[in-house]
Amino acid sequence: MLSAIHRGRYGRQVIETDRHLSRIKDDSLESGKNRANWMEETMAHIVVLGAGLGGTIMAYEMREKLRASDTLTVINQGTTYSFVPSNPWVAVGWRDRDDITVDLSTVFARRKIALRPEGARKVLPKENRVELNDGSFVDYDYLIIATGPDLAFDEVPGLGPDGYTQSVCHIDHAMAARPNFDALVKKPGPVIVGAIQGASCYGPAYEFAFILDTALRRAKVRDQVPMTFVTPEPYVGHLGLDGVGAPSRCSKAPCATVTSSGSPMPR
Ligand SMILES: Cc1cc2nc3c(=O)[nH]c(=O)nc-3n(C[C@H](O)[C@H](O)[C@H](O)COP(=O)(O)OP(=O)(O)OC[C@H]3O[C@@H](n4cnc5c(N)ncnc54)[C@H](O)[C@@H]3O)c2cc1C
Repeated sequence: MLSAIHRGRYGRQVIETDRHLSRIKDDSLESGKNRANWMEETMAHIVVLGAGLGGTIMAYEMREKLRASDTLTVINQGTTYSFVPSNPWVAVGWRDRDDITVDLSTVFARRKIALRPEGARKVLPKENRVELNDGSFVDYDYLIIATGPDLAFDEVPGLGPDGYTQSVCHIDHAMAARPNFDALVKKPGPVIVGAIQGASCYGPAYEFAFILDTALRRAKVRDQVPMTFVTPEPYVGHLGLDGVGAPSRCSKAPCATVTSSGSPMPR
């Protein structure tokens, strides 16, 4: 998840205003006009870029922390929230697209969060604005960026759903993987599951290996599907985090494993 907060023009003004708040209060405590001006000055527009796991939760949290005068906008690619961790279940048919997606227009409207589904083309930090894909602009005082991963299938020739492998990184990939899972059940054969070097998150590869194992058992074809797990991790269970749990437990998994040294791990 790429996330960052850029302070905007208005944000600095808010701090400046806070610093002088007591003086303003002293000078014009009774002045309704000045009070109205102060309220106007401190109003801020917060923009969240990306409505995935990070952006949506951020927007909800922000809404609770903002003042009534502040406004909140989420810019996303489309109106749909998709729960990424459930993608493996979609790939083996345990869930459908509708089960793991939510239409954000209604839930955001209920929480007074504006939604711009056009997607962002460019962030213009010097101007405190985001250019959308339709050529329109959204101005901000604070920008929170949560646009998710840039999937690097291009780094390994043939990798990814446009190449020769299946993916559960995105709901569309998982949907595309499902007919291939069905084909595997109809005509069982060897399967390789894994993650590649440079991946930021290895857990889903293990998760998918076990989900696939269960789904094949339920389809009563597991005995006809030799499974191999391939990973660049220095040891099984490293997960890109230098280990979660005991590696010896992982080596008892019912599949052959090839690590970055190229040597198979004991079954
Ligand atoms: C199979 C799998 C299982 C996982 N399981 C777990 C788990 O159990 N626990 C866990 O903590 N994590 C898990 N993860 C990781 C977790 O899903 C990600 O870390 C998380 O989804 C990242 O959230 P995000 O908001 O950064 O990105 P995403 O959820 O990918 O959301 C990014 C959003 O930004 C939008 N966007 C992108 N570009 C633009 C643009 N130019 N303009 C507007 N919008 C844009 C996209 O449309 C999307 O809505 C799993 C990941 C996978 C793939």
